[in-house]
Amino acid sequence: EIRVRFAPSPTGPLHIGGVRTALYNYLFARKHGGKMLLRIEDTDQNRFVPGAEDYIVEALKWVGIEIDEGLTVGGPHAPYRQSERKAIYRQYADQLVSEGKAYFAFDTPEELEAMRKRMEEANAPAAQYNSITRLQMKNSLTLKPEEVSALIDSGAPYVIRLKVPRKEDVRLNDLIRGWVVVHSSQIDDKVLLKSDGMPTYHLANIVDDHLMGITHVIRGEEWLPSAPLHVLLYRFLGWESTMPQFAHLPLLLKPDGNGKLSKRDADLGGFPVFPLEWKDPFSDTVARGFREDGYLPEALVNFLAFLGWNPGTEQEMFTMDELIQAFSLEQINKAGARFDIQKAKWFNHEYLRQQPNEQLAEAIVSQAAADGINCPPEKAAKIAGLLKERVNFAHEIYAESTVFFQSPPGYDPAIVAAKWNDEAVRALTAFKDALTSVEEPLTAEMAKTTLANATTAVGIKQGKIMQALRLAITGVGAGPDLMITLEIIGRQDAIDRLQKALN
Ligand code: GLU
Repeated sequence: EIRVRFAPSPTGPLHIGGVRTALYNYLFARKHGGKMLLRIEDTDQNRFVPGAEDYIVEALKWVGIEIDEGLTVGGPHAPYRQSERKAIYRQYADQLVSEGKAYFAFDTPEELEAMRKRMEEANAPAAQYNSITRLQMKNSLTLKPEEVSALIDSGAPYVIRLKVPRKEDVRLNDLIRGWVVVHSSQIDDKVLLKSDGMPTYHLANIVDDHLMGITHVIRGEEWLPSAPLHVLLYRFLGWESTMPQFAHLPLLLKPDGNGKLSKRDADLGGFPVFPLEWKDPFSDTVARGFREDGYLPEALVNFLAFLGWNPGTEQEMFTMDELIQAFSLEQINKAGARFDIQKAKWFNHEYLRQQPNEQLAEAIVSQAAADGINCPPEKAAKIAGLLKERVNFAHEIYAESTVFFQSPPGYDPAIVAAKWNDEAVRALTAFKDALTSVEEPLTAEMAKTTLANATTAVGIKQGKIMQALRLAITGVGAGPDLMITLEIIGRQDAIDRLQKALN
């Protein structure tokens, strides 16, 4: 059985890149009839942010990513919050120490800093606390066993570090990137257990993936550098034969393709970076979310699915079920994916058009009410039907619909100059008079026939006065279908507006 997990750290709101990771895991699980787990990686107590966990749960729900096992759902491997699994990790750290694969280290922050300085001055390669430098440090490899026990008994703070082999190529076959080979001299003797008894991300992540039976680790490219260390951990813990397969997802790039997407780009580009609005509990700042910006979850899902993956066909619009069918790790690109918010807007536009008018009407009714305007649901539904093709977001419909609630406050002078003439006045007068005798309620069809008859009666070609009519009704020279507009404002309002323009 395929088992994947989304394992966020609740150090703040879920970034949109995290949502993509969750989505790809979910699609992969569903495609193969597997399980999707949600595990909270909260071992870094210093970075705990209140509300972040609830935010993650709510965001996944809104997006439509269902969890089969884990936080809020439960399951055979509970608890799914790492801070509640402390004892489990300790046991494996101790096991590694007793097997000589990890060691105690007592170095003070000052000693570590001094070592870092020395290494920097010597232009050392990436790894600093390693097979060479560990020999000069204060740890259970350099101290006598009695000294180690004495230190521990005296309550001296210590960490447990992984004893990374000195000269070895560590390899892994990433499902997206192919073979990744890193020399062990590039890998630090990473801390596995911190002095507060909490595991680090690396230890907790590997222990849990193993115990929870994870078969595939699908995560962002920023975790690729940690993967060789994780391979070593699997081996040292004796779990190599059931090690999950890795798939590191391509980076999200700035809209112009230059460099990694960051929160600041959102500020500059005016687009949301979080699925839901985020109120920072430490300051009063509010960061925008896709939901509050008016994106439909379907549009966001479709947009995110295409950030790094493509179906290999021309199809652009996918429901979640269609994505599940079409998804495969083979179709994920290695190259970074450009974050193009215009594409997200396009998807939203496409999904908005498919929304039932009655549903869109609700928002219009309440937006109008907030402005003290009474808009009956039937009228709102007609407005939605007329305008939804012309906007990207539902809230823009009401913003565009002033014309349906009040007669034009003025008339576009350019159209007045070009189109308002004797013929227009004669034709519109005839039309207005004809309207007084049509039956209520006025339909678009009826308005059309009445206009045709009225213009024919006065011998003026209808095409010549259409813009003048639009001007009289809306004040401007362009807009949505005019006959439907007449139907929406109704007979009496149409007559009043014509009267006002003709005066
Ligand atoms: N807790 C890590 C994160 O915040 C999980 C990384 C992984 O999937 O291994 O993304």
